[in-house]
Amino acid sequence: MACVDVPDKQAPSYRGRLAPSPTGLLHIGHACTFWTAYQRALARKGTLVFRNEDLDPQRSKPEFTHTMIEDLKWLGVRWQEGPDIGGPFAPYEQSQRRKYYLAAWRRLRDSGHIYPCSCSRKDLAMSAAAPNEGDDEPLYPGTCRVKVGDARGYDLPAGVNWRFRVPDGEAIPFNDLRQGPQRFVAGNDFGDFVVWRRDDVPAYQLAVVVDDATMRITEVVRGADLLKSTARQLLLLRALALPLPSYYHCDLIRDPEGVRLAKRHDALSLRALRERGCSPQQVLEMCGRLVQSQIA
Ligand SMILES: [Zn+2]
Repeated sequence: MACVDVPDKQAPSYRGRLAPSPTGLLHIGHACTFWTAYQRALARKGTLVFRNEDLDPQRSKPEFTHTMIEDLKWLGVRWQEGPDIGGPFAPYEQSQRRKYYLAAWRRLRDSGHIYPCSCSRKDLAMSAAAPNEGDDEPLYPGTCRVKVGDARGYDLPAGVNWRFRVPDGEAIPFNDLRQGPQRFVAGNDFGDFVVWRRDDVPAYQLAVVVDDATMRITEVVRGADLLKSTARQLLLLRALALPLPSYYHCDLIRDPEGVRLAKRHDALSLRALRERGCSPQQVLEMCGRLVQSQIA
């Protein structure tokens, strides 16, 4: 009897991603997150995609791309698609993927989900809305919301900020595979967020959902500092009718003083640890200890 291989349509094969920005040296917090992403892909016999998030031309530096790739390989992380090896969803550099972001911008413009915002930094600073603690973007007061109808007058996004109009009061729940059930309320926990910047750079939120969808990512593994951004991204995915990935947000790692590790902690960069003679095994053990000490 012939053996017929019936593919399981319910369970698409696992596709994860590593998505570092070449704006500095990778530190031990990145190492923990990327190692987790690698292990989850490995355990599911999945594919891991390396995506270079070099969207910001001011902050991205080619030398950091080289260092990132080198440091992750040194640590033992392996991927099957990426800028260094190619793959079916190339290019894997965000700076080369503008046409995808532009197509998404057009869809959002045509469907009325976004509007041009001409508020200056000063306008925003003077508005009553205070920046939300621990988040990157202050609550937008909605001054330019009335301009939804103006959006169609723009053939290209450059020159103004483009904001996504969030459904005020709607709770955005999702289950995080590491952090458990999450719930953020649009218009309260976050406001109308930028999807395209005045200087003609697509914003992180837009680029990430477009890339995750077009690269067929099934699970997003990243740091817990992006939990709230997930709610924004779920709204964008819905507006663009794109499939939703699963989410796994790693615990944030803090230094002994309780300060979140950032790229400025150069002493804890993989580069510095290597230069001090640390082995990959020692770095991974350090990751394990740091995570444990925060749970305890
Ligand atoms: Zn505005």
